Amino acid sequence: MADIQAYQQLLQLTKEKKATLVAVSKFKSEAEIQAVYDLGQKDFGENYVQELVNKYAELPKDIQWHFIGHLQTNKVKYIAPFVHLIQSVDSFKLLKEINKQAEKSNRIISVLLQCYLGDEDTKYGFDEKETIELLSYYDAQKDALKNIKIKGLMGMATNTDDEYIIKSEFMKLKDLFEILKIQYFLGDDNYDTLSMGMSSDFNLALENGSTMLRIGSTIFGKRI
Ligand SMILES: *Cc1c(COP(=O)(O)O)cnc(C)c1O
Repeated sequence: MADIQAYQQLLQLTKEKKATLVAVSKFKSEAEIQAVYDLGQKDFGENYVQELVNKYAELPKDIQWHFIGHLQTNKVKYIAPFVHLIQSVDSFKLLKEINKQAEKSNRIISVLLQCYLGDEDTKYGFDEKETIELLSYYDAQKDALKNIKIKGLMGMATNTDDEYIIKSEFMKLKDLFEILKIQYFLGDDNYDTLSMGMSSDFNLALENGSTMLRIGSTIFGKRI
């Protein structure tokens, strides 16, 4: 069952810092999600397409679903009609497919570019150079990609107890976020989201410029 007290504390903290709290509900039941929804939570994050599609069908329609896992291009079509924010764009091919499916659904889909922060466990995402490369492509083809909106970056810090490493990775991502803003998104108010911070490192993330936390186990308990 959800830890209501932990949830309320996170809510308070994110409000103070003007950040968005995304409750990561992968592997959690619809009843567990509904309980957190009933506390007022609207943003939920999922990692798997089929699981997300099933939950979308069963749960309240005003939930804003975030996709945060690795997304295969052939599965974009299943979530394109309703997904709120795809946080895990890790290739230009995927970006183009999201645009195509968004057009089919008559929507503009918001996305974040997933950046690789040096965790060996995280196989997906762009490094700094690749992020810049992708944005130059994007810039050159903007007119053909009018059904997507790039809102910012997402990153996951290395899974370590060493706060120094985590902090330096978050600082690096924040720097990249600001550099890209100047280079590619000057005057674009849509570019405002830096998604970093999970259960183990959300305080460090907020201290280093996060505008969006993705919190699973602190709210819902450990996943099995
Ligand atoms: C599972 C997951 C989270 C949440 O992790 P917790 O440690 O349970 O808070 C956040 N971001 C991504 C990308 C995830 O896959």
